[in-house]
Amino acid sequence: MKLLLLGANGQVGWQLRRSLATLGDVVVATRDTDICGDLSQPRRVQEAIRALAPDVVVNAAAYTAVDRAEEEPELAFAINGKAVEAIADATAQIGSWLVHYSSDYVYRGDGTEPWVETDVCEPLGIYGKSKLAGDIGAVRNPRHLVFRTSWVFDTWGGNFVKSILKAATQRDELKVVCDQWGAPTRAALIADVTAVALREVVRTREDASRAGIYHLAPSGDTHWNEYARFAISEAMQRGAPLRATPDKVHAIPAAEYAAKAPRPANSRLDTSRLRRTFGIALPTWQEGVRAVVAELTQPPLWDAALKERK
Ligand code: NDP
Repeated sequence: MKLLLLGANGQVGWQLRRSLATLGDVVVATRDTDICGDLSQPRRVQEAIRALAPDVVVNAAAYTAVDRAEEEPELAFAINGKAVEAIADATAQIGSWLVHYSSDYVYRGDGTEPWVETDVCEPLGIYGKSKLAGDIGAVRNPRHLVFRTSWVFDTWGGNFVKSILKAATQRDELKVVCDQWGAPTRAALIADVTAVALREVVRTREDASRAGIYHLAPSGDTHWNEYARFAISEAMQRGAPLRATPDKVHAIPAAEYAAKAPRPANSRLDTSRLRRTFGIALPTWQEGVRAVVAELTQPPLWDAALKERK
């Protein structure tokens, strides 16, 4: 099987390099590779897809700057919407599968019940609207798998776990939001589930009966404050020299955290469809955080994480 991976330097893309390698030959594309993986040039990406004729295109590239998107909506829609539509059309023409990733931000974010894939999408901000445009674009190819996930983190890339551990080395007290709920999803889990699902749909050469939009998140839920305290506690147990202890992570409402873009208060995702369709078990969010903190607190990675910009 030949796979084209777009966005291979992102959190999820980096993990997909590993997990997709179990399926066949992975051609890696980023903004800088000879094979055009720059989603701001959708025609060139389409040409690359036609020239390579892969069995699967996995698109992990995205415009993910949630706050900045409020100021540059055209760019967010170009990368997250129009380019995805172009990739869907090109893959549909050659009969290949498209894997694409979407977000909890497509939902309104009210209530307390987990969202199901058939719920009405009413994004609050530009990023969510652009991701929804991508979902609509992706399904133009009948052979699609769209995974809506939430709160992505891992050892590679910029994310909340790294930011909070870094902040805990610099300050004695922290304030973290306690009224936004969801599940921190390890990029490695997303990549592994992608490979399992792809193996099912491509290897069995089935029709597109299992194509669709799926929620992909670990089991359990939490809010950012509990998530921060858990990561700090795990890091301290591993001897990380932190100043802010879990009891010094103060709970604040989102209204007090002046973010430019509105964020959903309820990002809980019901994953029944994914588990049922592909027979997948999903670990708890704590298992993912524990594993990543264990990696991050190893000396060379710890030093590097503290130096990272975000
Ligand atoms: P990252 O921000 O870690 O990675 C995004 C990648 O997209 C980067 O490698 C970036 O390239 C690349 N990219 C940005 N613009 C372009 C462009 N014009 N052309 C080509 N590549 C581009 O994202 P994640 O891995 O965290 O996210 C993966 C998917 O999951 C995305 O679809 C995202 O919307 C979705 N998601 C993410 C969440 C999160 O918390 N991060 C939550 C829910 C969903 P470069 O490295 O060169 O900057």
